[in-house]
Amino acid sequence: MTIHVLGSVNIDYVYRVPNLPQPGETLAGLSRAVHLGGKGANQAIAAARAGAPVRFIGAIGPGDDWTRDRLAAAGVDVSCVAEVEEATGHAIIYVDAAGENCIVIHGGANRAIPEAVVEAALAQAQAGDWWLTQNETSGVTEAAARAQSRGLRTVHVAAPFVPEDALPVLPHTDLLAVNEGEAAALASRLGGAVPVDVMLVTRGAAGAAWRERPTVPDGAGELSVPAFAVTAVDTTGAGDCFLGYALAGLHAGLTPEVALRRAAAAAALSVTREGAADAIPEAAEVDAFLAERS
Ligand code: ADP
Repeated sequence: MTIHVLGSVNIDYVYRVPNLPQPGETLAGLSRAVHLGGKGANQAIAAARAGAPVRFIGAIGPGDDWTRDRLAAAGVDVSCVAEVEEATGHAIIYVDAAGENCIVIHGGANRAIPEAVVEAALAQAQAGDWWLTQNETSGVTEAAARAQSRGLRTVHVAAPFVPEDALPVLPHTDLLAVNEGEAAALASRLGGAVPVDVMLVTRGAAGAAWRERPTVPDGAGELSVPAFAVTAVDTTGAGDCFLGYALAGLHAGLTPEVALRRAAAAAALSVTREGAADAIPEAAEVDAFLAERS
């Protein structure tokens, strides 16, 4: 069984600046760093590091093969990653001395994933496989509908949260993952039952909740999993690390309680390190952390 990730690849260009630029201002950057990011890529790497068989379905632009190589190096099957003419998805991130940031995202290739690679992945998928999407690529709703009708278990991460994008995917979603802010935005839009089997809500340092046949904002009957206390240095991508590990565990047959505890350990380790994809721990590190904390 495989976890298929129809997902985004982003290159994060991070510039440290003395202050965030004002309208009309030209600034000299203090330093520049380039990281692999994108919710899809981060989640795929996390699930693969957790031990799951993962296939990535997506697109990158010319000259950025290293992004695909990094996915492959993490153990992800990249046979359904297309090269297209659009630029690889990227984010220009300015970070000032106080850690405040401002970000511009260009979807690029993530919004131009060829139908043929989605087709190819669906044709090779088996009933019982999982199909994971986020709100950073083209074709999410249609692909989720087709995956579900082929007997795949569909998981959607409604981030970045845009109600007009999220609502059409819900009827084709078995498991919906959101953070607390997104859950609140969904509650204000829907007001009642969320039409999915399970909703997974992450709450940063306050942990995570697993709700079956969820209603919002009521959390009755939810399984609550605390976060581990650590000294966080960079929480970018914590949710992606958590989700990848959680899905890998559930996919391997762990109970939600055990899978989410493992995911919380992986995410706790990730927030103690800089970066998103780079901060995702290996399974052995997570095992050692769990042994130490139990
Ligand atoms: P997102 O990055 O999507 O906003 P969250 O901030 O809710 O996601 O974090 C996802 C998970 O990562 C949490 O449920 C928790 O297990 C872990 N986590 C996040 N921030 C911390 C932190 N400061 N300390 C320990 N664990 C954290």
